[in-house]
Amino acid sequence: MSSNRAGPETAIRNYPKLLNRYQRLLELTSDLASTFDLDTLLQRIVVAARELTESEASSLLLYEKQTHSLYFEAATGALVSGVGQRAIPADNSIAGWVFTHGEPIVSQDVINDPRFYREMDALTRFETQSILGVPLRTKDKVLGVIESVNKTEGIFTDEDVQILQTLAAQAAIAIENSQLFLQSDLIAEIVHELRTPLAALTAASHLLQRAELPADQRTKISQTILHEVQRLNDLTTDFLELSRLESGRMRFKREPVHLGGLAQESLEVVRAQAESREIELETEFDASLVPVHGDRKVLKQLLLNLLTNAIKYSQPGAVVTVSLHSEGDEVLMEVRDTGRGISPEDQERLFQRFYRAAEGADDVPGTGLGLVIAKRIAESHEGSISVESALGEGSKFTVRLPMGPSTKVTTRPRS
Ligand code: ADP
Repeated sequence: MSSNRAGPETAIRNYPKLLNRYQRLLELTSDLASTFDLDTLLQRIVVAARELTESEASSLLLYEKQTHSLYFEAATGALVSGVGQRAIPADNSIAGWVFTHGEPIVSQDVINDPRFYREMDALTRFETQSILGVPLRTKDKVLGVIESVNKTEGIFTDEDVQILQTLAAQAAIAIENSQLFLQSDLIAEIVHELRTPLAALTAASHLLQRAELPADQRTKISQTILHEVQRLNDLTTDFLELSRLESGRMRFKREPVHLGGLAQESLEVVRAQAESREIELETEFDASLVPVHGDRKVLKQLLLNLLTNAIKYSQPGAVVTVSLHSEGDEVLMEVRDTGRGISPEDQERLFQRFYRAAEGADDVPGTGLGLVIAKRIAESHEGSISVESALGEGSKFTVRLPMGPSTKVTTRPRS
């Protein structure tokens, strides 16, 4: 039996197990943050709850105001068949108590607990002995309850309560997020994306608070924190850029822009990054190219997004080429690389917000917004952007911009 009321020796003996549980919590919560589909999400939460509390089964109930009841939305193991979408009263049950008080409960012996909803076992054909229940609480309300039933060995400990509460806090955010995500406007998507690194940071901070943490683990967790903070930073910058572009309030300049000079400047910005990755930069400029009309600063941003991608997604020894030439009454600005390339399925989705190809997502940091921003900029200049690529061979991104002084710059791009 484990309990944190036991003496310090027991605590030290239990320590590796405890650390494992918290590490597992960290893994499970970061999984939750990336799940948009509500049913999948709820199922993941109960599976995580059962595992973390080492119980026979876990269930999740969400509150419904109209009927003032809690509904079983997901369950594991033996509970699955019985609970269905059944409701239990919010006033007259253990889950109801947790919900109305917004506090956890441990009932080691439900038979003698007056709060226990006796019809429950008849409904589920499950013999409940002990229950640990915690509220699913967001900043301003309680969404429902997570319950773990029958500890497999011994009794529910304070540690179980804490770990389930931490899971519930993340789960509540993820549930609210997933409901928000369904509305799918930019703000909801942004909040969702910000919460992913925030969830990781919260879990990492919990771990760091443990005085007994070995130095190597501490270093690893600090690295996670740094990585996630950097990600938050990148996301904030890109969100700001994208929301400016999408708001329609952005005032673009209309000035003659010599793309040759702009490309040279952009290459200087990325040169150090390219050198550190042993990537060669080349140019193919048509010297007779006429200027385009537009906003120099945002056109430079567009080219920089394409260049940093070409460098990020290429291996050492690869070549990245910027090419400028004209075709009919259009100027073509191309960024080619001999990097990892993009599969046809991924090519179709690259310009969607937050989309990242599977091969890049793990080892290369990014937000999945760079190309959306690039597309918005091209379109706001009455231009377009397209991609040609083959996996393992490389990619070519082509920006087409109209040439000539009649170029209009619209403030509200259409897709
Ligand atoms: P990110 O911040 O992920 O780089 P982007 O919107 O700029 O976001 O790009 C979206 C995805 O497109 C990337 O995650 C990557 O998978 C893929 N991608 C973009 N440019 C390239 C490239 N030059 N070579 C291979 N894959 C690329």
